Amino acid sequence: MRVLFGAGTLGQLPQEAERLGLRRLLVLSTPGQRALAERAAGLLGPTCAGLFGEARTQVPVGTADAARAAARDAGADGCLAIGGGSTVGLGKAIARDTGLPVICVPTTYAGSEMTPVWGLTEQGRKRTGRDRTVLPRSVIYDPELTLRLPVEVSVTSGFNAMAHAVEALYAPDASPIVSLMAEEGVRSLAAALPDVAADPGAIGARTDALRGAWLCGACLGVTTMSLHHKLCHVLGGTFDLPHAATHTVLLPYVAAFNLPAAPAADGVLRRALATDDVPGHLARTATGLGAPRSLAELGLGERDIDEITAQALDRPYANPRPVTEEALRALLADALNGSLAA
Ligand code: NAD
Repeated sequence: MRVLFGAGTLGQLPQEAERLGLRRLLVLSTPGQRALAERAAGLLGPTCAGLFGEARTQVPVGTADAARAAARDAGADGCLAIGGGSTVGLGKAIARDTGLPVICVPTTYAGSEMTPVWGLTEQGRKRTGRDRTVLPRSVIYDPELTLRLPVEVSVTSGFNAMAHAVEALYAPDASPIVSLMAEEGVRSLAAALPDVAADPGAIGARTDALRGAWLCGACLGVTTMSLHHKLCHVLGGTFDLPHAATHTVLLPYVAAFNLPAAPAADGVLRRALATDDVPGHLARTATGLGAPRSLAELGLGERDIDEITAQALDRPYANPRPVTEEALRALLADALNGSLAA
């Protein structure tokens, strides 16, 4: 994968398409990002084969089918996914079925562009898998495109990115290089987010935040995720909770559960965040920057805990601490009430 990073790099899109030998790109976006997609289409000129602006969160199967049909009808030889994780995810869904190469221009901090992980949601269940075919060929990180990302999305998306790094630090396939990327990714994002919230148009803070997102996404791409990502996957896929906000609320509770069993990861995070209390620091920072404080605020009820627990325990996955039903219920009850953010 090739990565271009820096303010104004979107301007290099036509050369990047040419370098990859692509002549008919289908541009993908969410409805909200259509204007940006049109700008990219304008830059591509005749290399743009069409625009599909209906990307949705969690990649519903119906949306993926429609986008694949649009790519076929346009005679596309590749896709340009410009936007957040929803748009990148749609590009991956097309790539998985057709092998069409994807260029990504990420405009949030979600990190999907750095991973071979695809996801599809059908009938309230989200399926994910790894497939190198879906890994983007080129990624263009242009911080100028994030200047208008709303503060709330910036903060929650930033926490989504940090969650990748946290779980990479105690992953069964962690390595010293991953730990370095995770530490620097968390440090960069944690330092930048308050500045982004104070002045969303500050290119310096936006650059640092996007650089942190790149590092955290790279951690996600090469390690196996644990309890936190499993729970977010269930909460998004079955309960339709907003992806980044769910990561933000839940991360401190999973950290409180797992870090006592992962002292090396805890040490790295203490250094990166300059704190002795990683879970409390994460919770207070998020709410201090205006993020939701509890799963209840996101619409979850106590009645949902049975189903989440059942789904989260239905298949074993790596975690530094054994996940019992009792412990999981207690964790979810705390996150439901937002006890750490008090
Ligand atoms: P998103 O892509 O849905 O974007 C959130 C909102 O922000 C959208 O309405 C979008 O139009 C808007 N937006 C995006 N960029 C903007 C900008 N620069 N300015 C203004 N508005 C902008 O949300 P997300 O949090 O980026 O991604 C979430 C999705 O990504 C989920 O489906 C999740 O499962 C997936 N994801 C996948 C991976 C992976 O490795 N497969 C990793 C992380 C996230």
